[in-house]
Amino acid sequence: MSGAAAEAPLDVVADFPAIPDGWAYLDTAATAQKPRAVIDAIARGYDTTYATVHRGVYQRSADMTLAYEAARGTVARFVGAQPDEIVFVRGATEGINLVTHSWAGQQLKAGDRILLSQLEHHSNIVPWQMVAERVGAAIDVVPLTDDHRIDLDAMAAMIRPEHKLVALAHVSNVLGSVLDVTRACAIAHSVGARILIDGCQAVARLPVDVAALGCDFYVFSGHKLYGPTGIGVLWARPELLDAMPPYQGGGSMIDRVSFEKTSYAPAPTRFEAGTPHIVGALGLAAAVDYVTGIGLSRIHAHETALVADARAALSRINSLRLFGPADSAGIVSFALQGVHPHDIGTILDEHRVAIRAGHHCAQPLMGVLGVEATARASFGVYNGPADIDALAAGMERVVRIFG
Ligand code: PMP
Repeated sequence: MSGAAAEAPLDVVADFPAIPDGWAYLDTAATAQKPRAVIDAIARGYDTTYATVHRGVYQRSADMTLAYEAARGTVARFVGAQPDEIVFVRGATEGINLVTHSWAGQQLKAGDRILLSQLEHHSNIVPWQMVAERVGAAIDVVPLTDDHRIDLDAMAAMIRPEHKLVALAHVSNVLGSVLDVTRACAIAHSVGARILIDGCQAVARLPVDVAALGCDFYVFSGHKLYGPTGIGVLWARPELLDAMPPYQGGGSMIDRVSFEKTSYAPAPTRFEAGTPHIVGALGLAAAVDYVTGIGLSRIHAHETALVADARAALSRINSLRLFGPADSAGIVSFALQGVHPHDIGTILDEHRVAIRAGHHCAQPLMGVLGVEATARASFGVYNGPADIDALAAGMERVVRIFG
């Protein structure tokens, strides 16, 4: 047994005011509930300490600027980076769009190729399609292994020097499969390609150190990490950020403006046009402090145990297909023959079990799995064995109703 698994079971549900007794919230992959510490940080931000940042000559604004930049430092330490390598964005979606506009818009040329995988979220597909169309680049897609991981052997066989950019999910939002990021980066770099990792589902489930992983860009959203919506992170290697043109123009991102010519501030300020989500950054830093206080290795062990229990309970049901690998990180997708996942979700809701049903913004993956949609249970720090029991009891009722 690992040291993490040997620790006392995680029991932090009391930290989460939005989770009443007996409600099995199994939709953390969509968005995580917020601990009191995050809610308090947001309330404090708007309550007794609120002011704008980077502009005020008065003390309150100077203090808020320090707090906002300290939040950047907290986030940087969390992923093993330096503060000026952290760009605050609205979420992973905006982070990827920033890279497709700013980096790819400048670097990709007609004839270049982009490599994605079959399990990507739409936000790691559509922005690449848009830039590919603009510049005349093409997209190739890495297939999955039989147990629904990104097939890195296939990736190694198909990659070639025309591939200038690889973009892959660290953890699949549908299958929970965990990418061997270090190996994926080595394969991308073997042909000189840059690699972006979509860490949306990873940062709340696994320790992440961008330097150790070896990637070029890493993005994630605050709201899946127990933080607020409307704030997320793009990390990029400093030499890439320094060479990238701005994404949006406006206030705060400039050095000097005249009608003849504008010069821009250095990164990351150059990429944060307009008044930022000040209090969002404070809430995100509180969320980072919260999960690091528990320990990411401990969270990972906790969720891995829940996945094992959920898979065991679900696999006792006839005609139920389980997707994803057994060692999935906190996410279990399934389908029951002859029953639409929305019906599963509705019946489970009557049992006070909240799951997600649908294509999970991964329609190409649904095609690969041979289904229109899946039912998905995803776990967080507040879940425990009682939630798996509730899921299993609710599924028994689904089976009784649909025969
Ligand atoms: N990538 C993955 C793997 C996700 O799970 C999500 C959210 N479901 C996103 C990207 C997009 O995140 P957001 O909507 O917060 O920008």
